[in-house]
Amino acid sequence: MRTGKGRMGTTTKKTIAIFRSNRRVYLSVALGVCVLFATAASASQPRPIGMVLDEADAMRSDANRSRFAELLEELNHRVAEASEEQSEQISYLNAYRTALAGSYKQAIAEAVDLFQRSKNADMRFRAAALALNGMAVQADYTGGLRQLESILPLVDQVKNIEVRRQGLGAGATLYNQVGQYELAIPLLEKIRQGGGLSPRTSCFTNYAELEALQGLGRFPEDGTADRYASKCEGNGEKLVAVFIRSFIARSLKAQGKIDEASRLLERLSREAHDIGYPAQISQVDSLLAEVRLLRHDLEGALRASASAVAAGEKTPTSAVSLVSAYKTQYQVAETRGDTIRALAAYKLYMQADKQNIDQVKAKELAYQIVRHETQQKAQQISLLSKQNEVLRLQQQVDKQSAQNSRLMVLLMLLVCGFVGYWAYKVKRVQISLKRWAETDALTQVSNRHSFSQTSRNALTDAARDGEEVAMVMFDLDHFKAINDRFGHGTGDWVLKEVAEVCRSFCRRVDQIGRLGGEEFAFLLRGYDARSAVRLSDDCRARLASIDTAPSGHSFVVTGSFGVTTTALSGYDLTRLLSHADNALYRAKREGRNRVYLYEPAAVSVESQFGEVMADNVVPLKAEPAAWA
Ligand code: GH3
Ligand code: MG
Ligand code: MG
Repeated sequence: MRTGKGRMGTTTKKTIAIFRSNRRVYLSVALGVCVLFATAASASQPRPIGMVLDEADAMRSDANRSRFAELLEELNHRVAEASEEQSEQISYLNAYRTALAGSYKQAIAEAVDLFQRSKNADMRFRAAALALNGMAVQADYTGGLRQLESILPLVDQVKNIEVRRQGLGAGATLYNQVGQYELAIPLLEKIRQGGGLSPRTSCFTNYAELEALQGLGRFPEDGTADRYASKCEGNGEKLVAVFIRSFIARSLKAQGKIDEASRLLERLSREAHDIGYPAQISQVDSLLAEVRLLRHDLEGALRASASAVAAGEKTPTSAVSLVSAYKTQYQVAETRGDTIRALAAYKLYMQADKQNIDQVKAKELAYQIVRHETQQKAQQISLLSKQNEVLRLQQQVDKQSAQNSRLMVLLMLLVCGFVGYWAYKVKRVQISLKRWAETDALTQVSNRHSFSQTSRNALTDAARDGEEVAMVMFDLDHFKAINDRFGHGTGDWVLKEVAEVCRSFCRRVDQIGRLGGEEFAFLLRGYDARSAVRLSDDCRARLASIDTAPSGHSFVVTGSFGVTTTALSGYDLTRLLSHADNALYRAKREGRNRVYLYEPAAVSVESQFGEVMADNVVPLKAEPAAWA
């Protein structure tokens, strides 16, 4: 930025020009912050659109209005070649020009539209600040405050520090305007953050701070205000310097330092008239009138108050000054005993007072409305976030319970698997226990108990079906002798071989049992006496042909058989066994290694079946001489 005496002079004139227009005054004061950030850059030849944009942005002050208009014209023609961001900048400058031309309503609409459609935080902030200024100028405090509330949360997203400071400055100015001085202070502090403020930004920030402090009744009496005023003055901000000094004068008056206040105000009045900004003239002269009245300079008080009224009536923002000026006029007339003038002035005083009160009320109402809306919004947001939290927790609970269900299912499966496995194991043990309990360990045929049980069941079935069943019982001959001669191990071997032979003679439906020691039995379903005797004899023959060589000894195994059937003995197991046993002993007695069928007076099979059986009943050929 160019500095120097010539530049300073231009800036002052520029400022005066800005404030000459009553309608644009407030906008210009707030927007003025922007002007100093502008840099003058000009070039005559066609340049990239970005450069034209930069220059237009720097030129958008009232004083450079024609150049600004020229550049904007060029930009509007070249909008097709602009990027989205550049096109938004052009929109912003157009809205700005509309505001400069005094069409605030349209400017606000354009700025709000840009604020709503832009995704760029800086651009949104600039657009909102422009809309906010326009609304403040239009005394649409509700709209302005709403706009302010909408941009304050964006502050930290704004990258360009000058853009941020412009927005914050506009916000602080608006808060001061509506009497919310306490809220202006933090915004001004935020402007100062990071330092490096331009002289103009610094001047306006100090001014806004003093205005807020005065509003809060905390105006500094330590010379700070005077220092601020001198700094502004030194930077060509004469208008602001006079405003600051008028605050000092008011403070002096409040402290009772009337002479000091009077001297300062006489000087400020001249300076204000030189500058020519009506709101300022009205403010300074109304205060001067009050001081002159206090010093009993009635004529002077009237002159100053008349000047304050004349200037104040040109601007809608001088209500306070008008109240003061009319009051002074009334008091002067009253002091002079001029009741007619006093009454007339009093009426005007009351009217101005009412207008002022109405304005204050309207500002307060606007603030309360917006504050209420903001609170409501905040409550809604907090409610929404709470609802979201509830939803999130609910989802978490659902997730957790789904997980719990999965774990439960897994646990159940594990338990089921475990129980199933356990049941399977138990069943296996039961089966093996049952087998162990039912089976003879040496020969693997049923033991006596199991044979009796299954035979009893089979007999019951056969009795029901009227089926004939044969019972065959045999006992190995001279088995003791085998044990004695060849050892118990050989005896065991023989028993296993005999069981194997038995198995080869039985079908699935038949039962084999080891009744004890070397005694075995068959229960043969569907066998009559003849077929049972035939089978017994075959079995006997097979026993006799057992090759004993594998036992390491050579001998002959024979057995004596007793046979009966249900036709002879009935279906009672005990009876069947007893009768078979009976026949067996007969066979023993008759010489062993033979088969006998039971008969009440047991007779040889040969005698019973004659020719037929004669072939099958092999008489004992010899005592087991092979043992020798
Ligand atoms: P008989 O022709 O009159 O039947 O004479 P036997 O010697 O066969 O009959 P006895 O009742 O005198 O002898 C049966 C023998 O069977 C007695 C016993 O030591 C033997 N014995 C019983 N159970 C077993 C066994 O499990 N293993 C062995 N090796 N011998 C057994
Ligand atoms: Mg025996
Ligand atoms: Mg025996």
